Amino acid sequence: MSEFQSDVSSYETTSSNLPAPIDVELSSQGNIFVDWNQLARPANVRHCIIHYRSLNNNQSHTIRVSRKKQNSYLRKTQPGHLYEVHVCAVDSSDRIIAASQCAQIQTRGENEGPRLRVTEATPDYVWLEWKKSDEVHLTDIKMYKLVINGETKVILPSEETRYVVSDGNVGEKYVFQIEMLRKDGKIASSVPIHVTWPGVTIPKTQAICHACKELMISWGDSTSINNGNIESYTLHLYDSKGELLTKVGPNSPECREVWIKDVDKGVYTYILEIKLANSNKSVYSKPTRVECGSDSRLPILTYEYSDSMEKKELTDLAHHLISARDNTKSKTLIDRCEHQLQQILSLLNRYTEKVRINLKIQSNSTEHVLQTYRLIIDGVELDKSIPGTVKQYPLELARRDEPYKLAVSVTPALYGTQSKPISVEASGYLTFFCTHFDQHKSSAGCAYLDTLPCEQQLRRPIHQGLLKVTQAMETIDLYDLRANKTVQVPSFRKERRLTILFFYLNTCVPARHQLTYFADYASHNRGKYIYTSIHYIEKENDKPLHEALSLEGVPMYFVLDFAGRIVWRGRICAQEQVEYNVHMDHILAEVNTIQCPSPDCELCRYCSLTDADLKEDLTEIELKHNLLLQQFFRTRPTKSAGAKENRRQRVVSLKDSTKTMISTQYH
Ligand SMILES: [Zn+2]
Ligand SMILES: [Zn+2]
Ligand SMILES: [Zn+2]
Repeated sequence: MSEFQSDVSSYETTSSNLPAPIDVELSSQGNIFVDWNQLARPANVRHCIIHYRSLNNNQSHTIRVSRKKQNSYLRKTQPGHLYEVHVCAVDSSDRIIAASQCAQIQTRGENEGPRLRVTEATPDYVWLEWKKSDEVHLTDIKMYKLVINGETKVILPSEETRYVVSDGNVGEKYVFQIEMLRKDGKIASSVPIHVTWPGVTIPKTQAICHACKELMISWGDSTSINNGNIESYTLHLYDSKGELLTKVGPNSPECREVWIKDVDKGVYTYILEIKLANSNKSVYSKPTRVECGSDSRLPILTYEYSDSMEKKELTDLAHHLISARDNTKSKTLIDRCEHQLQQILSLLNRYTEKVRINLKIQSNSTEHVLQTYRLIIDGVELDKSIPGTVKQYPLELARRDEPYKLAVSVTPALYGTQSKPISVEASGYLTFFCTHFDQHKSSAGCAYLDTLPCEQQLRRPIHQGLLKVTQAMETIDLYDLRANKTVQVPSFRKERRLTILFFYLNTCVPARHQLTYFADYASHNRGKYIYTSIHYIEKENDKPLHEALSLEGVPMYFVLDFAGRIVWRGRICAQEQVEYNVHMDHILAEVNTIQCPSPDCELCRYCSLTDADLKEDLTEIELKHNLLLQQFFRTRPTKSAGAKENRRQRVVSLKDSTKTMISTQYH
């Protein structure tokens, strides 16, 4: 039986059969028991899937069971929540063959607290309703207190059963709780409900000035937040003094670009307004400046990565393996994960030795047929000339940590000599953690491919997560740059807040990346925790900090409890800020022993991943890796010829000898 969270709507419906009835009841232990013996199960049915969703926090779960099973208990239910349950029979491609009716059932509360739920959430308001528990008489209740994000919002009389909150901000997270104050002085609270205020995300916008006097402004797709939808887009264009010049719209929700003609030369500011459906609210993009009418006859350079598809796939597979390994206890599976990780990273490394891009040269000049271009890389002009008719130019850049600066020169130079330079990121390799202190003795960079062998030499796993027994934290003296004084960590303060320690090194690539993520997270969750980022500087005569704290690398995280003891230690493997925030929320929820606030949290999925699931995943990843490997040699015939030559004549450098030794243990 495997259990994981899922998006219920992702199962395609192919059947319009009448839903079969379903029985749900509470067992004497308070567990939900589901019986679906009346559900039709034709021969093509592979599994039965039980879907259940808490109407309190909208979190859905699915349990996949064998087709023959007729009933089951639901795990992972929360006390005092109202659940909606239905069962589907699906075929081998998860198409629904038959579905049961939806039944509702409420689990028993832990105390006499009222049962709170969200009955409706729109961008304009969140409608809350509650019911007193049956054990409490109405006459015993003095009043209710609505608490939002830990602060009292309003006091309500005992007869009240609903409240509408209308002052939320789109995309922000709210925790609602209703407290019942009894006449005898007792207080009982409802279970907290997590709601992300409905709306949509704000897309990236882009403005291009075309042929001197046309302005094209385009934007990407928005993502729906908690079922929010878009009614229309309106573009507001302002002149340099901030005066509104024109309003283009409202345009349909499908609209993604706006052309504005006859624009005079000058500097403009634009704002994209996104009007939300079923709402009076709009969300707005940040004001963005655009220059029109200058330099427009020079070519404009843009670029895209040529093998980004494979790179993305390999990167995703590697991230999957890393998270799976850090969350499984089975030694054999850890070894298998690491073996496959090594393979994936090696292939990814070959894909990123040279970063291949497709340079696009966009010229607005009508004379471009007569022109020739020359490529300028980091300020150095190449000899080879490119005809003015070329619009796309494939280019290979050697991998390096510092971005490249690319531009083209134009001959004859009628309107200027050089296009605006663009910056191309070509660091290529995958990294999220680095055993930097040792790694840089044997390797030039922070690639995880080099970290992995170092990590495997260690006796203790680097990622430990929640510690079974809290661990004393060595007291360290830190120099606080901003306050210009020495501080001690852990510090003992009166306030009861957890401390998050983030260890980093300025010279380490993954540590530098995560410093920006950490700072962003801290600025959006101010006041909840004490955040300390610790930059490690080696001092003579002192015991190095990483030895004192037995840190094997950076970036590394400790969470300290109120007493300054380590309760969590480990690392975070996230590809971008949003994912990082979800991971951090998950970790802190784990430490606080509360429910993870993100409905589709990846780490929650890894926590409930069984060994059998992981084995299946590993087989699938192996297949994908082999396909990508074949593809790699197909698309790079010259490379494989080169490899054959190398077999005949092998050149070995002593500098690489350590690496060669380590890689032999895999083959
Ligand atoms: Zn279903
Ligand atoms: Zn490093
Ligand atoms: Zn989670």
